[in-house]
Amino acid sequence: MQVNRELFDEVMVPNYAPSAVIPVKGQGSRVWDQQGNEFIDFAGGIAVNCLGHCHPALVNALKEQGEKLWHLSNVMTNEPALRLAKKITDATFANKVYFANSGAESNEAALKLARRWALDVHGEQKSQIIAFNKGFHGRTFFTVTVGGQAAYSDGFGPKPGDVVHCDYNDLEAFAKTINDNTCAVMLEPLQGEGGIISPTKQFIQGVRELCDKHNALLIFDEVQTGVGRTGDLYAYQGLGVTPDILTTAKALGGGFPIGAMITTTEIAKHLKIGTHGSTYGGNPLACAVAEAAFDTVNQEDVLTGVKEKEQLLRDGLAKINAKYNVFSEVRGKGLLIGAVLNDEYQGRARDFLVASANNGLMSLVAGINVVRFTPSLVITNEELNEGLTRFEKAVAEVVNG
Ligand SMILES: *Cc1c(COP(=O)(O)O)cnc(C)c1O
Repeated sequence: MQVNRELFDEVMVPNYAPSAVIPVKGQGSRVWDQQGNEFIDFAGGIAVNCLGHCHPALVNALKEQGEKLWHLSNVMTNEPALRLAKKITDATFANKVYFANSGAESNEAALKLARRWALDVHGEQKSQIIAFNKGFHGRTFFTVTVGGQAAYSDGFGPKPGDVVHCDYNDLEAFAKTINDNTCAVMLEPLQGEGGIISPTKQFIQGVRELCDKHNALLIFDEVQTGVGRTGDLYAYQGLGVTPDILTTAKALGGGFPIGAMITTTEIAKHLKIGTHGSTYGGNPLACAVAEAAFDTVNQEDVLTGVKEKEQLLRDGLAKINAKYNVFSEVRGKGLLIGAVLNDEYQGRARDFLVASANNGLMSLVAGINVVRFTPSLVITNEELNEGLTRFEKAVAEVVNG
């Protein structure tokens, strides 16, 4: 069988527009396609491959568990799930874990738990959910409605109700919106898909205080920021603001699908037997790989390394910008970095992505004006520098038309 990009158009639902390149092999932060062309990976499968490709710890965990036990369902529990849950709760504010298979599912669980908590504790009037424009929380109907881009939730019939949006970092607007009927506030502690936007200290602290004042739960969607991405194990730890519920996915499995919703005992108790569930959630194979990823990332030297590599990446981008003057700003935290295009290059982030791919570099965009980089947390300095060299060539191509 000829497997090529044309086959995609023939057999796949057309909701994606993948590149013509079909990768077949990866090692560390290098990837090779069907023709043997090599790429440096600054995309990391959209902030998922926190340890690059085929990291030995993950390969070993997969092989070992793969020869033991793959799946049970939640009719029985399993050792990898319990070990992973213990490690997550030991390392965070949370006491309880619910496993899912993706970011959206973890957020779906968080929102359903918040609604059930509010109903049990305060009554059915307390159902309002506040979220933020440009926020992204996944593609199930509830999470896409809570997300801050109506275009993603329009056109699918009646939406889940009592969801409102404010501008991120606008504490005044938020203060006017939150009230005693607010059940939960969901936000990313650094907006990823929306353009790599950090919260101000005043905003994030103000949101926490107002949630406390109105008895609303604060949900941090750390699907993109979690598991070392920002240089802290979870971004909330670097902000000094603790949520009531936190969701984690993407990097949690280092490339194997898994997600989790974590919370306190007091809140968790409202997700009683039978209220929610998932056939695959907490699957032993996924949890064994995630445990290895979590153990590997949750090390002082790896987290410190993220901060050091952030500086290298920022220095490299600053050098390129000094030469070609294409960015107005480089923002973000850790290895979740956005290079914002200046006025002259508005709307052209995709051009930089395409030019990068043509020069052997995988990158991402965050909207039409931001080139996004989310490389492996353990990318070597050699790979990082090689990636920057290739990016400079791409920038030169875009600038010179
Ligand atoms: C990617 C992402 C999601 C959705 O995760 P899926 O695994 O695609 O369902 C949710 N929230 C944030 C912040 C994300 O970056």
